[in-house]
Amino acid sequence: MSIKATQLHIEHHAPIPTWFHIGGKAAKLAKPESEEELIACLEVDDEFKVLGDGANLLVDDSGVGGLVVSLQTDGFRKVLIDETAGLVTVNAGVALPSLINRCVKQGLGGLEVLAGIPATVGGAVIMNAGGAFGAMSDVVKMVSAIDRAGRVHTFERSQIDFGYRQSHLNHLIVIEVMFELTPSDPGEIKESLNRCMAYKTNSQPMSQKSAGCVFKNPVLTQAIGSIGEAGERVGERIGAGLLIDRAGCKGMRVGGAMVSDVHANFITTTKDAKARDVIALIAQVQTSVLDRFGVKLDRELVIWSDEPGQEPIGGQR
Ligand SMILES: Cc1cc2nc3c(=O)[nH]c(=O)nc-3n(C[C@H](O)[C@H](O)[C@H](O)COP(=O)(O)OP(=O)(O)OC[C@H]3O[C@@H](n4cnc5c(N)ncnc54)[C@H](O)[C@@H]3O)c2cc1C
Repeated sequence: MSIKATQLHIEHHAPIPTWFHIGGKAAKLAKPESEEELIACLEVDDEFKVLGDGANLLVDDSGVGGLVVSLQTDGFRKVLIDETAGLVTVNAGVALPSLINRCVKQGLGGLEVLAGIPATVGGAVIMNAGGAFGAMSDVVKMVSAIDRAGRVHTFERSQIDFGYRQSHLNHLIVIEVMFELTPSDPGEIKESLNRCMAYKTNSQPMSQKSAGCVFKNPVLTQAIGSIGEAGERVGERIGAGLLIDRAGCKGMRVGGAMVSDVHANFITTTKDAKARDVIALIAQVQTSVLDRFGVKLDRELVIWSDEPGQEPIGGQR
């Protein structure tokens, strides 16, 4: 049964929840409960923005003029587990941390290396979220997504061009993901999860308001003698946090935004911070690292802004 745009419940001037806890509102916000409702959202605004858990997102202070669509609804939080085959099929709105816990309890290994990453499954696939121990692309078997004309496409893992913190699927709306996990001993998977969590809590400001790493780790194009061994590995990625730290940016502030003194690739915010503080601080950090090391840092953080000068990067909407 097709649903008309007029049947959708649209909130006006609605807050957009993000992990920074700052930023403007959405002129319109929809929370579809079904694929039909999601497709009807395209009639309202076929360029709508998809909100996951807002864990990699900064919304400009002036907000978003068009439609924002959140898939964190019961209709997009279904989970189907085939324990014997290790196949887990979930909707895009499922929270990654709760899915990881469920898979650990059911003795399915592979996702636990992503412990401590706040995300919906859709957002984690789009960003190819990951870290020191692995990435989403290691365990994804299939992705279903709709295009801006409302057509559903299903991609096998081999058809998806996953890269470092990207999936090249940004033009689509991810609706369902199938993971291929490995049946293993729940105790061992839990130990692996604990190791990953310990690594994160020891090296990142997990209790503060942030959006994780702001910049992608750049590929070193020429040796940087002054930063030791890491600066010698030309052609490899080097920690953006190391460069930001060595450029003297730790603790740098603009208004209520600060470069974390725990992990220099994190910007943390106070409740009085403005999105513009974060945007200005990002520019200051980029300038410092460029001036000091000649390295251009690209954003991993997605910024939603209707203002000129904050164009999306890497096809991100
Ligand atoms: C404390 C903290 C720690 C973090 N640690 C890590 C880490 O270790 N590794 C890591 O990779 N990231 C990390 N992050 C960043 C963040 O968790 C990831 O980028 C995550 O994948 C964001 O998912 P999300 O659902 O919150 O997406 P959002 O932030 O809501 O959106 C991010 C982008 O994905 C798009 N999107 C979301 N859902 C969909 C969908 N269904 N279809 C199409 N597009 C969609 C949005 O439009 C946007 O462009 C961290 C963040 C925080 C706050």
